[in-house]
Amino acid sequence: MKACIFDIKRFAVHDGPGIRTTVFFKGCPLNCSWCHNPEGISPDIEHYTVQNTFDGVSLVKELIIGRWITLDELMVELEKDRIFMEESGGGVTFSGGEPLMQHEAVFALLQNCRERKIHTALDTSGFASERILRKATELADLILYDLKSLDDKIHKKHTGLSNKKILENLEIALKGKARVVLRIPLVSGFNNRPVDHQQLIAYLESLDNLDQVDILPYHPFGTQKYKRFHKKNRQNGFGIPPGEKVIALKEGLIDAGFEVNIGG
Ligand code: SF4
Repeated sequence: MKACIFDIKRFAVHDGPGIRTTVFFKGCPLNCSWCHNPEGISPDIEHYTVQNTFDGVSLVKELIIGRWITLDELMVELEKDRIFMEESGGGVTFSGGEPLMQHEAVFALLQNCRERKIHTALDTSGFASERILRKATELADLILYDLKSLDDKIHKKHTGLSNKKILENLEIALKGKARVVLRIPLVSGFNNRPVDHQQLIAYLESLDNLDQVDILPYHPFGTQKYKRFHKKNRQNGFGIPPGEKVIALKEGLIDAGFEVNIGG
């Protein structure tokens, strides 16, 4: 079996506990306006040309985003970092894109890691069928579950999809075997008004089995990628959330009884 991935990031420290190796799968059903991994949205391998000029000489280079890799080859890559994972209490994180778009490969990898006693985290948008989501919660040790907006109109406008399935699946995930950490990408111009914070805190308080929330403040680091990959940049109108608003949300969540991290 093979997986289509676009990156393997070693020594990641924001994708779950300890030092982790994060595998980025190609393909995402959402299309978030602020996405900082736009090269992960298409499930296909993409080809780009980039032109650089050095000393008046123009050089054109072909860039290929994505590659197919067998699961055996991928496990060999992951095993290379075992010592760092073991020493730090880390593991492997499957991210994307949306890794559950390639659920068969991801499930086989999760199973394989479990047999080798490698801790696994699955970073998901939560947009998948109920059957797939349930199985993911059986095979992963930790689910990093992204929640973008409770306002369905705004969610649809800026991600392309309704949040209904994502909210239903969140309740299913919280009843599953894996620990769930909720991740909130906080984006000014999208979900950072006081009313958004109030709705979010009230909703999270109503959920069972949730104890940790990570706030991921938006950053415009992906801007260069839109240029590089000739993609339309739709990040206009979004901004870095002011520090005081991030702290206000953090304190509101702590008062509601959650453990809160900024940046994951
Ligand atoms: S869910 Fe994540 S990877 Fe998919 S489009 Fe949104 S930000 Fe990008």
